[in-house]
Amino acid sequence: SVVVVGSVNLDAVTVCERFPQPGETVTGVSVAFGQGGKGANQARSAARAGASTVFAGAVGEDAAAETVLGSLAAAGVDVSLVARVTGSTGFANVTVDATGENHIVVVPGANGSVTVGEATRAAIADADVLLLQLEIPLPAVIDAARAAREAGTVVLLNPSPVQALPDRLVDLLDAVIVNREEEKALAEVVERVPYVVTTLGGDGARAAGSDGTVEAPGFVVEVVDTTGAGDAFAGALAAHWDLPPAERLLRANAAGALTATAAGAAAAPTGAEIDAFLSE
Ligand code: ADP
Repeated sequence: SVVVVGSVNLDAVTVCERFPQPGETVTGVSVAFGQGGKGANQARSAARAGASTVFAGAVGEDAAAETVLGSLAAAGVDVSLVARVTGSTGFANVTVDATGENHIVVVPGANGSVTVGEATRAAIADADVLLLQLEIPLPAVIDAARAAREAGTVVLLNPSPVQALPDRLVDLLDAVIVNREEEKALAEVVERVPYVVTTLGGDGARAAGSDGTVEAPGFVVEVVDTTGAGDAFAGALAAHWDLPPAERLLRANAAGALTATAAGAAAAPTGAEIDAFLSE
């Protein structure tokens, strides 16, 4: 089973012909609500890939909270450890114009209040794998990693958005999941972590550890929107951590590729969809 301690946002995507000037109001074409936050996206992917998955994070006291919790629960994620804090649920306000250019305002809201309490520590201790990102306060990331290490739970970190990592966190990691930019920016960290999984966009992924390197070449798919492909990959990788390295990398690579074929960040495939894709 997988525990994700991380972020959850409500995304609102507004489409307009052209962006308003400061002080101007324009009539938009459409609006769509979706769920974002790397933590929530990766938790949904792990659950849909077939793992028993707990998401621990925080939402605010607003209507957005019900929407995001409903979306997680619909994917099969256990949300019983999500805290309700004063203030707003994390929110991303995305505006896209006719040329596809975007303006984005992200309000961390409740994600800035995530802490790791007794119940979350117990869930981490019970799990096989802890999956972390960097959209919640670093002390919470470190507390979660420490609880996992003490209990023998595998600690995976997707260091995104990329930032400097303290040694006391790096020392707790069993593996990192990085894209090419993160691998470059965190070269010194990557050298010290026992297992490094690198996503290579359309070129697939690679995993390197003391037992050698495995590669998963990119799948040729009709790409619609790669938003969330990295999150789908990370969730599926965590869900399949018990599989042999080449097999789990293949399944995570399929989850990433399938997510790139659909619009939006919420489209991680189910285990059955991954099976069907791999047997094509
Ligand atoms: P991020 O979006 O986090 O920067 P990548 O771009 O490396 O990460 O993509 C993550 C994963 O999604 C890849 O390892 C691959 O499995 C899949 N993926 C992304 N882009 C494509 C693509 N154009 N074709 C096929 N698979 C893709």
